[in-house]
Amino acid sequence: MKNEILKAVKFIVKNGLVKGTWGNVSIRDGELIYITPSGIPYDILKEEDISVVKLDGTHISGLKPSSELPTHLEIYKNREDVNAIVHTHPVFSTTISLVVDFIPPLVEDAVMILGPKINVSEYALPGTLELAKKVVKALESNHAVILRNHGLITVGEDIKEALTASLVCEKTAEIFLYALNIGNFNLINEEDAFILRNKYLNSYRQNSKDIR
Ligand code: 13P
Ligand code: ZN
Repeated sequence: MKNEILKAVKFIVKNGLVKGTWGNVSIRDGELIYITPSGIPYDILKEEDISVVKLDGTHISGLKPSSELPTHLEIYKNREDVNAIVHTHPVFSTTISLVVDFIPPLVEDAVMILGPKINVSEYALPGTLELAKKVVKALESNHAVILRNHGLITVGEDIKEALTASLVCEKTAEIFLYALNIGNFNLINEEDAFILRNKYLNSYRQNSKDIR
Protein backbone atom coordinates (compact mmCIF):
# COMPACT_ATOMS: atom_id res chain seq x y z
CA MET A 1 0.00 0.00 0.00
CA LYS A 2 2.77 2.44 0.91
CA ASN A 3 4.41 1.90 -2.45
CA GLU A 4 1.07 2.52 -4.20
CA ILE A 5 0.84 5.88 -2.37
CA LEU A 6 4.36 6.83 -3.49
CA LYS A 7 3.50 5.92 -7.10
CA ALA A 8 0.26 7.91 -6.86
CA VAL A 9 1.96 11.11 -5.64
CA LYS A 10 4.48 10.83 -8.48
CA PHE A 11 1.51 10.56 -10.86
CA ILE A 12 -0.26 13.69 -9.57
CA VAL A 13 2.97 15.70 -9.70
CA LYS A 14 3.87 14.42 -13.20
CA ASN A 15 0.39 15.31 -14.47
CA GLY A 16 0.49 18.83 -13.03
CA LEU A 17 -2.47 18.28 -10.69
CA VAL A 18 -0.67 19.81 -7.68
CA LYS A 19 1.93 22.44 -6.93
CA GLY A 20 4.13 22.37 -3.83
CA THR A 21 2.91 20.19 -0.98
CA TRP A 22 -0.82 20.67 -1.57
CA GLY A 23 -3.07 17.72 -2.26
CA ASN A 24 -3.21 14.34 -0.52
CA VAL A 25 -3.78 10.68 -1.35
CA SER A 26 -5.15 7.78 0.68
CA ILE A 27 -5.85 4.07 0.24
CA ARG A 28 -8.09 1.87 2.38
CA ASP A 29 -6.91 -1.66 3.15
CA GLY A 30 -9.41 -3.44 5.38
CA GLU A 31 -9.59 -1.58 8.70
CA LEU A 32 -6.57 0.61 7.90
CA ILE A 33 -6.19 3.86 5.94
CA TYR A 34 -2.79 4.75 4.42
CA ILE A 35 -2.55 8.51 3.83
CA THR A 36 0.10 11.05 2.80
CA PRO A 37 1.52 13.03 5.73
CA SER A 38 0.67 16.73 6.09
CA GLY A 39 2.84 19.27 4.29
CA ILE A 40 5.71 17.00 3.25
CA PRO A 41 7.22 17.70 -0.21
CA TYR A 42 6.34 14.82 -2.52
CA ASP A 43 9.87 14.45 -3.89
CA ILE A 44 11.31 13.53 -0.48
CA LEU A 45 8.39 11.38 0.72
CA LYS A 46 9.49 7.93 1.94
CA GLU A 47 7.48 4.80 2.71
CA GLU A 48 8.07 5.16 6.45
CA ASP A 49 6.64 8.72 6.39
CA ILE A 50 3.24 7.54 5.18
CA SER A 51 0.70 7.78 7.92
CA VAL A 52 -1.39 4.76 8.88
CA VAL A 53 -4.64 5.40 10.75
CA LYS A 54 -7.79 3.53 11.66
CA LEU A 55 -11.21 4.50 10.36
CA ASP A 56 -11.93 6.19 13.71
CA GLY A 57 -8.84 8.39 13.20
CA THR A 58 -6.52 6.60 15.67
CA HIS A 59 -2.91 7.10 14.55
CA ILE A 60 -0.98 3.84 14.15
CA SER A 61 2.32 4.82 12.51
CA GLY A 62 4.15 7.26 10.23
CA LEU A 63 4.18 11.07 10.32
CA LYS A 64 1.22 13.33 11.19
CA PRO A 65 -1.53 12.54 8.65
CA SER A 66 -2.83 14.96 6.03
CA SER A 67 -4.88 17.81 7.47
CA GLU A 68 -7.71 16.59 5.21
CA LEU A 69 -7.93 13.29 7.11
CA PRO A 70 -11.49 14.16 8.32
CA THR A 71 -12.70 14.35 4.70
CA HIS A 72 -10.96 11.11 3.71
CA LEU A 73 -12.45 9.29 6.72
CA GLU A 74 -15.92 10.71 6.15
CA ILE A 75 -15.88 9.50 2.54
CA TYR A 76 -14.71 5.98 3.52
CA LYS A 77 -17.42 5.81 6.21
CA ASN A 78 -20.13 6.77 3.73
CA ARG A 79 -18.95 4.93 0.62
CA GLU A 80 -18.22 1.21 1.00
CA ASP A 81 -17.36 1.04 -2.71
CA VAL A 82 -14.46 3.49 -2.27
CA ASN A 83 -10.94 2.24 -1.46
CA ALA A 84 -8.85 5.18 -2.67
CA ILE A 85 -9.12 8.98 -2.56
CA VAL A 86 -7.10 11.58 -4.47
CA HIS A 87 -7.27 15.28 -3.53
CA THR A 88 -5.54 17.79 -5.83
CA HIS A 89 -5.58 21.51 -6.70
CA PRO A 90 -5.70 21.47 -10.53
CA VAL A 91 -6.18 24.68 -12.53
CA PHE A 92 -9.32 23.98 -14.58
CA SER A 93 -11.36 22.15 -11.93
CA THR A 94 -10.50 24.89 -9.43
CA THR A 95 -11.50 27.59 -11.91
CA ILE A 96 -14.82 25.81 -12.47
CA SER A 97 -15.31 25.77 -8.67
CA LEU A 98 -15.48 29.58 -8.75
CA VAL A 99 -18.14 29.97 -11.42
CA VAL A 100 -20.75 27.18 -11.43
CA ASP A 101 -22.53 24.79 -9.03
CA PHE A 102 -21.98 21.66 -11.13
CA ILE A 103 -20.58 20.28 -14.38
CA PRO A 104 -23.50 18.92 -16.43
CA PRO A 105 -23.28 15.75 -18.60
CA LEU A 106 -20.92 17.10 -21.30
CA VAL A 107 -18.74 14.26 -22.56
CA GLU A 108 -18.93 10.46 -22.48
CA ASP A 109 -15.79 9.53 -20.52
CA ALA A 110 -16.68 11.97 -17.72
CA VAL A 111 -20.25 10.74 -17.47
CA MET A 112 -18.98 7.15 -17.35
CA ILE A 113 -16.16 7.33 -14.80
CA LEU A 114 -17.22 10.40 -12.76
CA GLY A 115 -21.00 10.40 -12.84
CA PRO A 116 -23.73 12.21 -14.78
CA LYS A 117 -23.40 15.52 -12.94
CA ILE A 118 -20.32 16.59 -10.96
CA ASN A 119 -21.25 18.86 -8.07
CA VAL A 120 -19.27 21.71 -6.55
CA SER A 121 -19.41 21.41 -2.75
CA GLU A 122 -20.22 24.46 -0.62
CA TYR A 123 -17.19 26.30 0.75
CA ALA A 124 -15.78 25.40 4.16
CA LEU A 125 -12.30 25.84 5.61
CA PRO A 126 -9.78 23.09 4.76
CA GLY A 127 -9.28 20.31 7.28
CA THR A 128 -12.63 20.86 9.02
CA LEU A 129 -15.39 18.35 9.69
CA GLU A 130 -17.70 20.92 8.11
CA LEU A 131 -15.80 20.57 4.82
CA ALA A 132 -15.86 16.77 5.18
CA LYS A 133 -19.68 16.74 5.54
CA LYS A 134 -20.18 19.15 2.63
CA VAL A 135 -17.88 17.09 0.41
CA VAL A 136 -19.68 13.81 1.17
CA LYS A 137 -23.04 15.46 0.48
CA ALA A 138 -21.92 16.87 -2.89
CA LEU A 139 -20.09 13.68 -3.88
CA GLU A 140 -23.37 11.71 -3.81
CA SER A 141 -22.66 8.34 -5.48
CA ASN A 142 -20.26 9.90 -8.01
CA HIS A 143 -16.50 9.43 -8.39
CA ALA A 144 -15.65 13.15 -8.31
CA VAL A 145 -16.54 16.29 -6.41
CA ILE A 146 -15.16 19.78 -6.99
CA LEU A 147 -14.40 21.81 -3.85
CA ARG A 148 -15.52 25.46 -3.97
CA ASN A 149 -12.52 27.85 -4.07
CA HIS A 150 -10.22 24.93 -3.36
CA GLY A 151 -9.75 21.98 -5.74
CA LEU A 152 -10.80 18.47 -6.64
CA ILE A 153 -11.46 15.13 -4.94
CA THR A 154 -11.84 11.91 -6.89
CA VAL A 155 -12.49 8.43 -5.53
CA GLY A 156 -12.13 4.90 -6.85
CA GLU A 157 -12.51 1.26 -6.05
CA ASP A 158 -8.70 1.32 -6.31
CA ILE A 159 -6.04 4.02 -6.63
CA LYS A 160 -5.74 3.60 -10.38
CA GLU A 161 -9.41 4.44 -10.86
CA ALA A 162 -9.22 7.47 -8.55
CA LEU A 163 -6.17 8.81 -10.45
CA THR A 164 -7.79 8.32 -13.86
CA ALA A 165 -10.90 10.07 -12.54
CA SER A 166 -8.75 13.09 -11.57
CA LEU A 167 -7.36 13.37 -15.11
CA VAL A 168 -10.79 12.96 -16.69
CA CYS A 169 -12.37 15.55 -14.38
CA GLU A 170 -9.61 18.06 -15.06
CA LYS A 171 -9.95 17.48 -18.83
CA THR A 172 -13.72 17.92 -18.59
CA ALA A 173 -13.40 21.13 -16.57
CA GLU A 174 -11.11 22.48 -19.30
CA ILE A 175 -13.65 21.55 -22.00
CA PHE A 176 -16.44 23.14 -19.95
CA LEU A 177 -14.55 26.42 -19.69
CA TYR A 178 -14.07 26.53 -23.48
CA ALA A 179 -17.75 25.71 -24.03
CA LEU A 180 -18.88 28.36 -21.53
CA ASN A 181 -16.75 30.91 -23.35
CA ILE A 182 -18.18 30.01 -26.76
CA GLY A 183 -21.78 30.11 -25.50
CA ASN A 184 -24.37 27.57 -26.60
CA PHE A 185 -23.48 23.89 -26.17
CA ASN A 186 -25.14 20.50 -26.37
CA LEU A 187 -25.58 18.22 -23.34
CA ILE A 188 -25.91 14.43 -23.16
CA ASN A 189 -29.55 13.81 -22.21
CA GLU A 190 -30.37 12.38 -18.78
CA GLU A 191 -31.47 8.97 -20.08
CA ASP A 192 -28.28 8.44 -22.14
CA ALA A 193 -26.14 9.69 -19.22
CA PHE A 194 -27.74 7.05 -16.98
CA ILE A 195 -27.04 4.31 -19.58
CA LEU A 196 -23.40 5.41 -19.95
CA ARG A 197 -22.80 5.55 -16.19
CA ASN A 198 -24.29 2.10 -15.66
CA LYS A 199 -22.31 0.64 -18.54
CA TYR A 200 -19.13 1.87 -16.87
CA LEU A 201 -20.06 0.65 -13.37
CA ASN A 202 -21.31 -2.76 -14.48
CA SER A 203 -19.17 -3.80 -17.42
CA TYR A 204 -16.35 -1.41 -18.28
CA ARG A 205 -14.06 -1.72 -15.24
CA GLN A 206 -11.81 -4.62 -16.14
CA ASN A 207 -8.44 -3.04 -16.85
CA SER A 208 -5.13 -3.51 -15.01
CA LYS A 209 -4.97 -2.04 -11.51
CA ASP A 210 -1.32 -0.89 -11.90
CA ILE A 211 -0.41 2.79 -11.93
CA ARG A 212 1.69 3.67 -14.99
P1 13P B 1 -1.99 18.43 3.65
O1 13P B 1 -0.55 18.75 3.24
O2 13P B 1 -2.20 18.57 5.13
O3 13P B 1 -2.43 17.11 3.09
O4 13P B 1 -2.94 19.57 3.03
C1 13P B 1 -2.92 19.88 1.67
C2 13P B 1 -4.26 20.32 1.19
O5 13P B 1 -4.51 20.22 0.01
C3 13P B 1 -5.26 20.89 2.14
O6 13P B 1 -6.49 21.02 1.53
ZN1 ZN C 1 -6.51 21.00 -0.60
